[in-house]
Formats: sequence, C-alpha cells, structure tokens
Amino acid sequence: MRILIISDIHANLTALQAVLTHASRYDAVWCLGDLVGYGPDPNECIANVRSLPNLVCILGNHDAAVLRQIDPSAFNPEARQVIYWTQKVLTAANRDFLGSLPERVQQDRVTLVHGSPRHPVWEYLLDTHIATLSFAHFETPYCFVGHTHMPVIYHLTRADRSAILSIPGPNSQFPLNPRAILNPGSVGQPRDRNPKAAYAIYYPEEQTWELHRVPYDVAAVQIRMQASGLPERHILRLSGGW
Ligand code: ZN
Repeated sequence: MRILIISDIHANLTALQAVLTHASRYDAVWCLGDLVGYGPDPNECIANVRSLPNLVCILGNHDAAVLRQIDPSAFNPEARQVIYWTQKVLTAANRDFLGSLPERVQQDRVTLVHGSPRHPVWEYLLDTHIATLSFAHFETPYCFVGHTHMPVIYHLTRADRSAILSIPGPNSQFPLNPRAILNPGSVGQPRDRNPKAAYAIYYPEEQTWELHRVPYDVAAVQIRMQASGLPERHILRLSGGW
C-alpha cells in the first residue's frame, strides 16, 4: 500500500498537480494542513484535495485563520494580507470543507497533526529539543507533521530517549525506527533552499518512508500571484525555496 503524504500546499495548484502526477499511484492521501495562504489558487487546491482517494486531511494554522478561528494579527503583515484576500475569494463550500477539518487524527500506527503533537495547530517542530518533548504527546509509533516546510525525520533513540535529526535525500527509502516524527516538507512553498515541491510516500506494511522532490512551473504561479496582487516577497521566495 502506498499512502501519499502531502502538507503545506498553500494554494499553489501548479505544485500540487506536479506532485499528484509524479506520485501517479496511491491508495490513500493524508494531508497535513495549510491548504490555503500565500498562494493564488485556494479554491482550485481545495477542490483538488477533496477529490483525492481515501483522504484524511488536518487543519493548518493558515486554514484556521481563514476560518477566523485564529486572529490574523498573529501572522506577519504579508501573510495576514493573503489571509484576508483568501477570505474574500473562498467559496462557501470550500470554507465549509476547511471548517470540517480536525486538528488531530490517529490513523492506524500514525498520529497526524499540522504543527506538533503538543500544540497541533501552532507549534513549530524546528529542533531536536522540541522533538524530544513531543514524543511524550502521542501514543502511536509515528507522528506526521507539517508546518515548518522542511522535510526532516526525528528518531527517538532507545538509549538516551532523545531525538536525533535526519534530513532525508530525495528518492531514497528510510526504514522507520520504533518511534519517529516525520515531516514531508511543503508542496507549495518549500523553505529548505530547494524550490522543488516536496512530498512523501509512506508504506505501512514495510514501515518505510520515501521522500520526493518535483520541479514545477514556478513562473506560472508567480504570474498568477502578481495578477491577484499578492505580496512581492511571497512571489520571490518561490524561486529560491526560502
Ligand atoms: Zn504552512
């Protein structure tokens, strides 16, 4: 069984389509939140995600802000501007879909959250210290997270009970240790200085994780962002992956 793991699409339809084409065959899709924010295609991305097979989808902080569950003033001014723009253009049906998303789901051997198992919507799991603390906040062997837009794996060592960071290279399979926190990176706004869209395939029978990077037409997205009057900084960062 191949489970497609995607996160932080951020209203980037071109990147999402490139990922779905590249992944080509999958039995289920688990999406770790932030379908909207930053990008120009919120309705198209939600429509695409909703149609995916055996979908499990989690609420992200940008999704929650568009729903007014989080005060937009918690975001920087440019991110906030796009949240207001998204609120204006989002259809009622797509808003209802975002409103139906849970903050945390336990799926077989995996806990799914956007940020961290301690604070599912908001906490950034950015280092081994937070990762070590996070292992106490989920019961399953694995926890899949998004939010930082960085493809990483944290393993819990048996010996000293502290987390170890691995940065997976693309197209390589990682066997999962007894306990791990895994981030597939971001589909629509990678931040590891690699502009290619990121996603992962999880093989539950083999207990392995495979990271992939896919090039997409960044310029086409930048043109749509410009046409919608979205912030220049967000347009620029897609080219460099920061
Ligand atoms: Zn995000």
